[in-house]
Amino acid sequence: PVVDDEGFVVCPECGERVNCGPAGINNFIKRHKPGVSQVCKTAKAKRDKKPRQDGSLSGWFTQRASLVPSTVAAPAPIPPGNTRPPLPPTSINRAAVPSASSNMPQSLLDQLREAIRNLPATVPEASDSDVLATFGSDPSQFVDATVPAVEIYEHLNPLFHAALGWNMSVEDTAQVLRRGQLGLDGLLRFITYFVTQRSVREQDFAAKIQQILDAINFLTPIAPPGIVSGPTTIPTATAVDDEIEFISHTPAPIVSRQCDGFIFPLKQNQTISDAYPIQMHDNGGLPWDFGTRHSCTGTRRPGHKNCGPCANLGNHNMLKGIINRSTDGVHENTNLVYQPMAALIGITRNKSVVIQSLRLGLLNNSRKLLTLSKSLSDHKRLVVAIGSGDVKRVDRVIAVCIKQKRGIRGMFDTYLRAAKGLWKTANTEEEDMFGLAMLKLAGVRVTEIAHRALGLPGVTTLRNRMITPPLTASPGAPKVEEIQKNIEVCFGGIVDALATKKVVHQIIMFDEIATEKRIRWDPRTNHFLGVCRQHAHRVGLEFNGERDLDALFDALAKKTGIDGKQDSLVHNAGEVTVAAVGIMSEDTRLYSARPILISGDCKRESAPEHARNVLTPVLDALANKKDLTRLRTICMASDGETRRGELNATGMVARPYGIISYVSGWSILSPTGHV
Ligand SMILES: [Zn+2]
Ligand SMILES: [Zn+2]
Ligand SMILES: [Zn+2]
Repeated sequence: PVVDDEGFVVCPECGERVNCGPAGINNFIKRHKPGVSQVCKTAKAKRDKKPRQDGSLSGWFTQRASLVPSTVAAPAPIPPGNTRPPLPPTSINRAAVPSASSNMPQSLLDQLREAIRNLPATVPEASDSDVLATFGSDPSQFVDATVPAVEIYEHLNPLFHAALGWNMSVEDTAQVLRRGQLGLDGLLRFITYFVTQRSVREQDFAAKIQQILDAINFLTPIAPPGIVSGPTTIPTATAVDDEIEFISHTPAPIVSRQCDGFIFPLKQNQTISDAYPIQMHDNGGLPWDFGTRHSCTGTRRPGHKNCGPCANLGNHNMLKGIINRSTDGVHENTNLVYQPMAALIGITRNKSVVIQSLRLGLLNNSRKLLTLSKSLSDHKRLVVAIGSGDVKRVDRVIAVCIKQKRGIRGMFDTYLRAAKGLWKTANTEEEDMFGLAMLKLAGVRVTEIAHRALGLPGVTTLRNRMITPPLTASPGAPKVEEIQKNIEVCFGGIVDALATKKVVHQIIMFDEIATEKRIRWDPRTNHFLGVCRQHAHRVGLEFNGERDLDALFDALAKKTGIDGKQDSLVHNAGEVTVAAVGIMSEDTRLYSARPILISGDCKRESAPEHARNVLTPVLDALANKKDLTRLRTICMASDGETRRGELNATGMVARPYGIISYVSGWSILSPTGHV
C-alpha cells in the first residue's frame, strides 16, 4: 500500500481508505492490521457482499503505484491552449481512467504538426545560419529520384545527425528549435515530402521526430492544474495510411525529460547522504519514493527539473521535517531512523570509541579488582593473625608500620616477626608515663607483670626514664655525703614552697622495712647492695669483676669461728633502716615523709654502733644541709626499736635534738612536738 497526498492508505485487504497520520505506513499496519483487525475483517465482509463494479480483481492491484511513468503512447496530445492533461496523479484516479484508451495511436508526424502549430512563443524565428535551416530548402534535391524508398533514409541520416546530433539532450535540442520555413516548419515539410512523396516509412524518422517533440514539450509551459479538466478527446481525424504498417514503436529514451522528483535542498558541501534519512523509506514509511517523487506525472515543468506534484512535496510535513533536520542537524538521541547516513556513520564511530574506552575501563577495573581482592585476602590474613593474640601491642605495631608507609604485606611480616619476638616497638611516651605511674603507685612487682603481660616498659627502663633523681641506698655504713645527696634530691623541688610557707621545723623518723635477703647490684653506684651496714667494711662492695662477686659470696658463707659459733663475715640484710624527714606543715604536699637514708641491717649492732652508724650521719647531714632546707630538727621519732630506746635512756643522743618518742607504728606527732 502507498500513502497518498492526504496521508491516506487503501487497505489491500478490505479496500477501505485509512488515515495513517504523520507516522506513515507503519501506523496503518500497526493500527489497522490489514486482514487481522476486526475493523478490516468487517469492511472486507461488507465489500465482498456487494458485487464489484467491474468484477475484476485487477481493480485492486492497479492501486499499486507504478514507479515507471507511462510510455509515450499514453500522454494525450497537447490540447489547444498550450495545456496538457496531467497524468492521473493517484492510483485511485487511475482506476477511473478507462483502460480502453488503446485508441488508434496518433501518427508521429501529426503529433509533430500539432506541436509546431502550438509552438511556444519563446521559440525564436529561424534565420539562414540556424542548424535547421538545412531542411528549409527543396527536399527533392537531397536524394536522387532513382533511389528506392527503403534506401532513402540511409541518405538522409547524415543530414539529420549533423543537425540534431547523436543522443542530443532535450535541453540542447530545445536550443536549436526555431520557428518558420527555415526552422521547424521547414523540417516538417521536409519529412512530410519524404513520407508522402517518396514512400519512406514514418517510423524511420520516429527517433528524430520524438526528439523534436520532447524538446517542444520541454519548452511548453504547463497550464495551471485547475484549467485542465481531464483528458481531452483525441482527435481521430488522422488518416492512417493503410499501406503504412503500424508497428508499436518503442520510443526513444526519455530520461532527460523525466521528472527529477523533489529537489532536495542541500547546504554547501552537503551531500544527500549527509542530509537525507534514507532509512525512513523502510516499510513504506514515506509516501514518496527514493527519487523524492510522489504522484509523479513523469514530465518536467518547463524551466524546472520536476513535475508539479513532486514540487508540491515540499509542503509535506514529513519532508519539511526532514529538511529542517538536515539544516539544523539531528540530535544524537533521536531515533536512528531519522538519522541520515553520514550521521549514522558518525554515531557508529562515536559508539565505537565509547565501547573501546568502556572495554579499556572494564579491563582496568578487572585488574584493579584482582589486585584489591588479593590485598583483601592479605587483610584477612592479618586480621586472623591479630586475632591469634600473639602480639600484645598490636596497635603499636600497626602504628609503626603506617608511619613507615608499609603495605599490608609489610605489616603482616612485621607482625609475624613481632610474634616471634624478633621485632619490638619502642614504647611511646604515654606508655612510659603509664609504666612510671604503675611503678610509683603499684610497685615493682606489678610493673614487672605489666611489662611481661602488656608490653609496657620494664622496671629498669622506667627507673632510667625517671625524671626525679633516685635516692641512693647506702651499700655499707651510711656516709654523710650519701645522705646529703638524698636530702638534695628530696628537697630539690620544694625549696621554694618551704620559703613561702615559712616552715621552720622538721622531725626525723626511723623505721625498719623487711627486705629479701639477697645481693643486688646498683648500676649507678656500681656497688653491691643487700649487705648489712655494720659488717660491710669487712668486704669490698664495689663491683670491678667476677672475683669481687666471688669474694662477697665467700664472705657471706657461714664458717665456724674461733669461739665455735657458726657465723659469716658479713650478712644479708634482712631489714633496711629508713630515715625520713617530716616537715611540720599543714600543706599536704610538704607534709609527706621524705626518706633520706636507706641502709641494710642485720640486727647485730649495739646501741652505740647504731648511733654511730645511723643517727649521727643523718643528723650531721641534715645539719650540713641546713642552708638548703632552713629547717630545725626538733624531734626524732621511732617505733619500738630497742637500740634507739636504749640510746635515749642512756642520754647518748645529745641535745638539742629533743626526745625520741616511743610509739607503735609510725608516729602521729603533732607539730608541737608533744606525744
Ligand atoms: Zn483493511
Ligand atoms: Zn515528478
Ligand atoms: Zn652484720
